[in-house]
Amino acid sequence: MGKVLIIGAGGVGTVVVNKVAQNPDVFTEIMLASRTKSKCDKIAADIKQRFGIEVKTAQVDADNVPELVTLLNAYKPELLINVALPYQDLTIMDACLEAGVNYLDTANYEPKDEAHFEYSWQWAYKDKFEKAGLTAILGCGFDPGVTSIYTAYAAKHHFDEIQYLDIVDCNAGDHHKAFATNFNPEINIREVTQRGKYWENGAWVETEPHQIHMPLNYPEVGPKESYVIYHEELESLVKNYPTIKRARFWMTFGQEYLTHLRVIQNIGMARIDEVEYNGQKIVPIQFLKAVLPDPGDLGENYTGQTSIGCRIKGLKDGKEVTYYVYNNCSHEAAYKETGAQGVSYTTGVPAMIGAMMFFKGIWRKPGVFNVEEFNPDPFMEQLNQQGLPWHELHNIDLEL
Ligand code: NDP
Repeated sequence: MGKVLIIGAGGVGTVVVNKVAQNPDVFTEIMLASRTKSKCDKIAADIKQRFGIEVKTAQVDADNVPELVTLLNAYKPELLINVALPYQDLTIMDACLEAGVNYLDTANYEPKDEAHFEYSWQWAYKDKFEKAGLTAILGCGFDPGVTSIYTAYAAKHHFDEIQYLDIVDCNAGDHHKAFATNFNPEINIREVTQRGKYWENGAWVETEPHQIHMPLNYPEVGPKESYVIYHEELESLVKNYPTIKRARFWMTFGQEYLTHLRVIQNIGMARIDEVEYNGQKIVPIQFLKAVLPDPGDLGENYTGQTSIGCRIKGLKDGKEVTYYVYNNCSHEAAYKETGAQGVSYTTGVPAMIGAMMFFKGIWRKPGVFNVEEFNPDPFMEQLNQQGLPWHELHNIDLEL
């Protein structure tokens, strides 16, 4: 049915290729391309050995539009899944437009020289994708991604009006390292050290980093200190659900993690500007990435689970109702199935399902869309079949 090109051979890319290979009725031809071709070849050899499925590989610099266009014109995929870094979103979208290829990603664009992300840059491509008759699906990982689809599902089936939305993201796993990040360290540290921000009564409220926190109870996990941070799906969700009075994103952090983070910041290792070192220019956070554990290698000893969901309060038939929808994902089970840990797994599986929705013609229309703008039901069905089953609780105390 579909010819797909995946760009990015990191933790998330590994999971996407595994899940695509597990659905050969939908994905008939697969190519994996990235900056370092040897990483693609290693993943492809593993897939060949375990599933007997051929994955083509290629080297590409996704910062370079002509290079991307040459690859796209040579391979001619129908859909490109971008699981490289947020820095490459715009160059890849430009190349897709030039070569007539549909697009899906899991993180919104972020300029390299500014720790700031927002959808405006990608939303600005709406007309161009519409005119080209191409589909662009934005933010199809877990958060953003599944959390946005949970919200769309809640709005469709359980609420007339969503008023309060709290996205709660708990990683109760242990990788047995003193300090490591669960996905690309540069992107991760930029995200969690920024100022906090949430939506209330029609405006954004800014806080100091990690200023608002409280323990929240997570299913099968128990209480974990959770911190309000800004996360990109809030931007599209408050736009697409204007009845929302307050929308926040909570993430759990351990004390050890926060202490390391504070030290990293205080000594300047989180800086994203260039510094002179031994007659060479280096960016401290990029150097830090080189010495930290590779998130892709954390899987082997990772125990415990993630628990991510949406806690929602609003109105149904004139009555106030509450709703909690969530998934728990075991790091060990994720590793056993794909060789990657739970955070890569919870991102890569939804990216594959989004691509499946595209190839089945269910999520296909010209323009640029956030995932909550599509029908959530077939996607929710696939989550249960592809390794990320969800659970619902009705009319419970949301703690928030
Ligand atoms: P990794 O750093 O493990 O992998 C990134 C991959 O992209 C690497 O293979 C890297 O190549 C490749 N890459 C980087 N720059 C280029 C370039 N210029 N050209 C070609 N390839 C390039 O990251 P993750 O797999 O952890 O994350 C992938 C994406 O998923 C990120 O955008 C991240 O923000 C997003 N994400 C989304 C989540 C969600 O829930 N929505 C959660 C977690 C992550 P090389 O091997 O040479 O370095």
